[in-house]
Amino acid sequence: MKMDHPKEVIDPIEAMQDLLTSIWSEMCRMYDVDAHVPDLPLIFEQVDLSDACIAAEKILVNLLLEIMEDVGRFSPFYRQPPRAFGVMSYRNPRTQRVEWILAPEGHRRWEMASNKLEWLISQYRGIFRAVILVEGWMMRSTPNDPQVLAYCHCEPPHAIQLKRSLVQKREILCDSCRHPYEMREVLEG
Ligand SMILES: [Zn+2]
Repeated sequence: MKMDHPKEVIDPIEAMQDLLTSIWSEMCRMYDVDAHVPDLPLIFEQVDLSDACIAAEKILVNLLLEIMEDVGRFSPFYRQPPRAFGVMSYRNPRTQRVEWILAPEGHRRWEMASNKLEWLISQYRGIFRAVILVEGWMMRSTPNDPQVLAYCHCEPPHAIQLKRSLVQKREILCDSCRHPYEMREVLEG
């Protein structure tokens, strides 16, 4: 098989970062909040990536709970109940613990964001799972860590872009063939 340089290879980590940033900005605009995107450990707190749909909802809930914390005293949303932010609590009958979920209007409002998150997670959950385990996750950029093109063992292989340090750990597995992505080419120095 001829290995042409793929025209558009997604960097799953950058795609996730961009998506989270755009969802966060949209939430900030909607609720009149001026704050930085929360740290990733917070965004992914208790997010189980094995079910992409549930994971997407949990991420949105984590972001909205953070938005609630960041509402300024002079905002019309100050001290509004959680429902005003599209979230509600319920007691999980299995665990008997109170959990936050999206209210129906929250589901409607963030449906598009949820779909995008779900797609990204379902395609690259192995990568996100591995990378969340890496300390400091993807926010930390180290010098001399270029983007590389990496391939798995599928036929045809999936190609992704990642930081070289992540590929070298060989912990980033393809969800289909279960092989680690291997570096093929350095894209930028
Ligand atoms: Zn594969």
